[in-house]
Amino acid sequence: MDHTRLRDAGIKATFPRLKILDMFYRHADRHMSAADIHRRLVSDHSNIGLATVYRVITQLEQAGLLRRTQLDTHNMVFELSAKGHHDHLVCTRCGQIREASDPAMAQRVGKIARRSGFALDSYSLVLYGSCGCADDQPALPHGAFE
Ligand SMILES: [Zn+2]
Ligand SMILES: [Zn+2]
Repeated sequence: MDHTRLRDAGIKATFPRLKILDMFYRHADRHMSAADIHRRLVSDHSNIGLATVYRVITQLEQAGLLRRTQLDTHNMVFELSAKGHHDHLVCTRCGQIREASDPAMAQRVGKIARRSGFALDSYSLVLYGSCGCADDQPALPHGAFE
């Protein structure tokens, strides 16, 4: 586990912070909800409760290390900020999350904001559909995939 990332971000290196941030670096391709993180900690025999997971991911987000994406009203996932801005494609059949980015889209969004006199902090674009895993299956209702 690497203490320097927390120190550089200006927060103290506590065991839960180290453990959870390390999990994101070991699975940099993953998008994890608080429940996903907690499940992994349990299978890893770490004695870190769900309330602590919520608190720690919020602290890591405030320190600029993690970024959250609200996939729908029920699902919020976290990933490393260091990955930079990208959009998400969510398969509503199997729950797979893919990433995509297009500079033209980012420029377009910036233009829309400026045109409305809106100071843009960030934006999130989530596309829902099928990844090709089960095209004959109906889409799951939002919130049912995780
Ligand atoms: Zn799929
Ligand atoms: Zn992502």
